[in-house]
Amino acid sequence: MPIFQSATYGYSGDGNEDLVGYTRPADSPNHHALARAIASIEGTEAALVTASGMAAISSTLLALLRPGDHLIIQASTYGGTFELVHHELLPLGIESTIVDPANPGSWKAALRANTKVFYVESISNPLIGVADMEAVAAFSKQHNLTHVVDNTFATPVLLKPARLGFVVIHSATKFLNGHSDIIAGAVAGPADLIAKVKNKIVVYGGVLDPHACFLLQRGLATLALRVRQQTASALALAKFLEQHPQVEAVNYPGLASSPFHVLAQSLFKGSGGGVLSFEVKGGVSNAQALLKALQLPLIAPSLGGVESLITMPSATSHAALGVDGRKAAGISESLIRLSVGIEGTEDLISDFAQAFEAVTPANGNANNGALTDLKLS
Ligand SMILES: *Cc1c(COP(=O)(O)O)cnc(C)c1O
Repeated sequence: MPIFQSATYGYSGDGNEDLVGYTRPADSPNHHALARAIASIEGTEAALVTASGMAAISSTLLALLRPGDHLIIQASTYGGTFELVHHELLPLGIESTIVDPANPGSWKAALRANTKVFYVESISNPLIGVADMEAVAAFSKQHNLTHVVDNTFATPVLLKPARLGFVVIHSATKFLNGHSDIIAGAVAGPADLIAKVKNKIVVYGGVLDPHACFLLQRGLATLALRVRQQTASALALAKFLEQHPQVEAVNYPGLASSPFHVLAQSLFKGSGGGVLSFEVKGGVSNAQALLKALQLPLIAPSLGGVESLITMPSATSHAALGVDGRKAAGISESLIRLSVGIEGTEDLISDFAQAFEAVTPANGNANNGALTDLKLS
C-alpha cells in the first residue's frame, strides 16, 4: 500500500456527503486496507486499527458497557487493562469481578444480572498462563455475554478466537507489526460492533496514523514466518532452561511439564507461543547478572518483535503491584520474562549458556555490588 499521508480528502461537491473524508474516523485508504487484512486474518466480518493496544481495549469496552453494567475479567491482565477497569471504568459506574480463566467451575459465582462482558487474555503475562477459551465461549453463550479476548501473545497464527465467537483485540505494537517501531492496536469482530467501536475512536481520538498503518501492513506480511521461528526457538530455549542446573522454574505452555500444556496443545496447534518466563537460582542479584551477561536479548519492555527482548517484570510491567501484590499474583522478584526474536535458535541457546557461566551458581554472587546500577527501564 502507498501511504496516504493526509488529514483530509478533497470532495467533488456532487451532493454525496458519504464521500467526505477525514482521517480521525479511520477513513483513509490505508486504514481501510489494513482493516480488511486484519479481518481476513482473524476470520471476522470487520476490523478496525487504532492508535495503540490500549485504544483498542478502552474503545471496545466503552462500546460494550454502560454505567450500571458489570464485567467478568480474568486475574493478572495486562497492567493497562487493569488500570482501565479498576481506575477508569469503576468511577463511571461499571463494576467488575476477577476470575481464574483456567477454572470454569469458579465463574458462575461471578455472574450478576447486569453482567454484559467476559474479558480474557488467551495467553497471560508474565506467568504465561492459558485461558480455557472454549469454556469461556460456552459460558458466555449460555449467559448471553459478549466474550472479548486480548489475543496479543497468541497471535492469529496460533489461535483465531473469532471461531469461538470472541471479539478479538490486539496490541499490534507486538507480534502483528513485529518490528518494535510503532504503537498500534486492532479490534476484529462483527460489523455492527466494529461500527460502535469506531464511534468511540472518533470521539476519544485514538486513530492510527497513516504512516503507522503502512508499517503495520508491511509487518503483517511476515507475521506467520516470524511467529513460526519465534515459537520454535521459544520451545528450544524453554527445554534448554528447564534442564539447566541454575534454573529454578520455567513457565512455558509448550513444555510437557506445564500445567497449561494440554490446553495449549488443543488451542494453539501444539505450540506454546513466543514468550516464556523463568526463575534463576540465587534470587534477584543472579537474575540481574544473567541479564547483564546476555549479548543477544536487549533488556527492554515490550515483546513480539524480531529482536529478543528480556525484562524482570518486578522492575517493569508489574512494578506497580508492589512486593505483596506480586507475591499474591505468584510473580517472584527474580522472575525473568523473555520475548524470543527471530535470531538463530542455536545462537540464542549459546548466548544463554555463556551468560549462565558468568553468573555465580546458587548462593551468593561476588559481583553483586557492581550490578546495582543496572537499569531496567
Ligand atoms: C502491550 C500490551 C497491551 C497494550 O498495548 P499498547 O500497544 O502498548 O497500547 C495490551 N495487552 C497486551 C497483552 C500487551 O502485551
